[in-house]
Amino acid sequence: MPKIENNIDDVSKRIDQSAAEYGRDPSEILLLAVSKTRSVEHIRQAMDAGLTHFAENYLQEALDKITELKAEDLCWHFIGPLQSNKTRSAAENFSWVHSVDRLKIATRLSDQRPESLGPLNICLQVNIDNEPSKSGFHADGLVPIALQIAQLPNLRLRGLMAIPRAENSFQEQQAAFQKLAELRQQINQSLDNSEKLDTLSMGMSGDLEAAISQGSTMVRVGTDIFGKREQQQ
Ligand SMILES: *Cc1c(COP(=O)(O)O)cnc(C)c1O
Repeated sequence: MPKIENNIDDVSKRIDQSAAEYGRDPSEILLLAVSKTRSVEHIRQAMDAGLTHFAENYLQEALDKITELKAEDLCWHFIGPLQSNKTRSAAENFSWVHSVDRLKIATRLSDQRPESLGPLNICLQVNIDNEPSKSGFHADGLVPIALQIAQLPNLRLRGLMAIPRAENSFQEQQAAFQKLAELRQQINQSLDNSEKLDTLSMGMSGDLEAAISQGSTMVRVGTDIFGKREQQQ
């Protein structure tokens, strides 16, 4: 079996095992292949193994791949930092943006989303461990901003995303993800049934088990599918 296919098999097994361990339905946990810095050839190998959701961090790199793979039925997720002068191409080319970290970005994405594509799915990125080097909303004060963003016409606020501290222990990983899950609950208390957030975008190669234990519905995995990146980023 080719290496990437093998790796995807291993990651899928980890997801299934964690789901079983924590009483989750594995069909509620979507595996996103984080394909930043990877070639189209590598993406095709992941497609051959059955993956259809791909996540990218750098807009220009992503647009090149999306163009090249236009004939395929793929769902593209943007998960990287988004500058406000780049929101238009994100709004026009992705199904999901997980890294909305300011009201201004959300407003621009809504204004620039082509109506023909339907609402853009978004997650709000939360700086869950309050790290100065990371972007994202602070947990304090998030609820009213989320409720405001939920009303923007061309967006569908689906949930929350976080990247906890990399050096956390398993218990610390769980505590961070639990905070994110609680924030989603708090926001949902103020939303109508049809608007409730159904997504927790949390868990990467190193912490997907802890994320699944706390209710993750999307794990974003790069390294454990494609191997180590040349430049860790
Ligand atoms: C790079 C990246 C990932 C994947 O990380 P791995 O440790 O390689 O699995 C997930 N989420 C975000 C936001 C990333 O930037």
